[in-house]
Amino acid sequence: MKIKVFKELCSGCRICEMVCSLFHTGAINPERSAIRIRKNDLGNGLREPIVCRGCGKMACLEGERTEESQEVKKFTWDRKRAEKCTFGALPVFQGEAYHCDLCGGNPRCVKVCTPGALRIQHSKKRAVA
Ligand code: SF4
Ligand code: SF4
Repeated sequence: MKIKVFKELCSGCRICEMVCSLFHTGAINPERSAIRIRKNDLGNGLREPIVCRGCGKMACLEGERTEESQEVKKFTWDRKRAEKCTFGALPVFQGEAYHCDLCGGNPRCVKVCTPGALRIQHSKKRAVA
């Protein structure tokens, strides 16, 4: 499973950031969210969701001896992995990188995204649930 983004449908409401932080940390703090809404200042100026793409080949873990299947279940990661992510999809806050763990198989951001900008895509990789 992975989250597929349809950025043209994003309203920029940022509710996804709120529920991500609330679900994982117990408090609303968009800085502690694995999904981030960024303004595309160099392009069309619209807001677009950035979240881990669930890559088959995980550049973020390159050079590490670790079990991918275990790492993908974790919400906070070492910040060094953020520098290796090809898509800039690991936000860093206070020394930690925030990684989308798919809420254990029931992504809360997808549930609250009423415009449909976030959708679940099933794949063999990332079979979290
Ligand atoms: S909840 Fe959906 S529409 Fe709102 S900011 Fe997040 S991705 Fe965009
Ligand atoms: S953190 Fe980045 S490189 Fe790693 S799986 Fe997600 S999008 Fe891909």
